[in-house]
Amino acid sequence: MLQINPPLNELVSLAKKGLHELFGVEATHLAAAPGRVNLIGEHIDYCDGFVLPFAIERYLVIAARPNDTMTARVASSLGGEPVELDLTQLQEPAEPKWVNYLRGVIRGFQDRGYEIKGFDALIVSSIPGGAGLSSSAALECAMATLLEGILGVSLELKEKALLCQKAEHNFAFVPCGIMDQFASTFGKEDHLVMIDCQSGEPQWVPFMNRDLTVLISNTMVHHELSDGGYALRRKHTEQALSALGKASWRDVSEQDVLTMWDQLGDPVNRRARHVVGEIARTMAAAKVLEQGDFQALGPLMAASHDSLRDDFEVSCAELDAMVNIARSIGNEGGVIGARMTGGGFGGSTVTLCEASAASVIAKKLASEYLLQTGITAQIFASRPARGAHLLEWEK
Ligand code: ADP
Ligand code: MG
Repeated sequence: MLQINPPLNELVSLAKKGLHELFGVEATHLAAAPGRVNLIGEHIDYCDGFVLPFAIERYLVIAARPNDTMTARVASSLGGEPVELDLTQLQEPAEPKWVNYLRGVIRGFQDRGYEIKGFDALIVSSIPGGAGLSSSAALECAMATLLEGILGVSLELKEKALLCQKAEHNFAFVPCGIMDQFASTFGKEDHLVMIDCQSGEPQWVPFMNRDLTVLISNTMVHHELSDGGYALRRKHTEQALSALGKASWRDVSEQDVLTMWDQLGDPVNRRARHVVGEIARTMAAAKVLEQGDFQALGPLMAASHDSLRDDFEVSCAELDAMVNIARSIGNEGGVIGARMTGGGFGGSTVTLCEASAASVIAKKLASEYLLQTGITAQIFASRPARGAHLLEWEK
């Protein structure tokens, strides 16, 4: 079944109402930041590659009001008691863990010399957590945007994204790349955010054809392997690059990998083949998008998934099942391409398809997936959406 994306104004109403119920105050500041998916370019953000994500029509909203103290009181509609933060003592990460994303962002502003005074805040979100859709980046980017609103300043988008990334590194201890915060910050309707991970520069790539949409299917699984598996893949790519004797993956050709195939040894040689192939596929994807040749994305997405499954070995049975079902629906059924998205070992898939066929395709994906795995997937459609922004602003 195709889930409906709750309209942003519905989330805003819930956040305002919740703030009032919890703290007895009316919101003066409202900020929203979206989650993201990556259309193509997987596991190459740490290899000087390109990624092609977009902000999705799923948002995290914060409603807040300054409270004339030096304490922030924050709560999430996910539950738990409101948490009090002494804004003069934000040196270290602490419990509860979810508040660390906020601590890190506030610290980022303080480190830039801004004085942050107390506020009451409530968070409401429609981004499924832990599904590879970057609810954590949305939490950081919404908080940073809220603080901009309260302070009456506006950071450069890139600076804001980097501040949020640093919060995730230093306060949540997740050594993430730049994709998540860049996508949530730079997101723009009808555009993908292509990020050159070598230069750290984002660029908008038009995705104008409104006859198309992307189905995001949360497999609802998250395999334990993921943390160690991620670190090991990074290690393999570093080993390969040094054995290839190159400074950057941008300087490595497929032929270089094949020439060194035996010396690299298995699985490092296959990891290297994935990186080189995926960089080429992502560049090709940006090019066909510029030409408006959406059909050409299908084979690129298919090759990306196969490479992640066979060479990089970060897929899993559930992701493969979802992608295979989409493939079996095929072009005749309105599917253009499908692949796993995100780090892998679970999480979500993306299926590029005709918008008019989306609900029929979603129904088929859900029912076949349930039949094959016994799991009820969560499926929704999204076109590229607007990045983090303030909704209302009263000084
Ligand atoms: P992902 O970013 O892929 O969704 P992560 O594990 O990186 O997964 O981030 C999920 C974490 O972000 C949650 O465990 C929680 O700490 C925090 N988070 C996300 N959404 C919310 C929310 N609505 N309220 C409170 N915390 C949230
Ligand atoms: Mg995250």
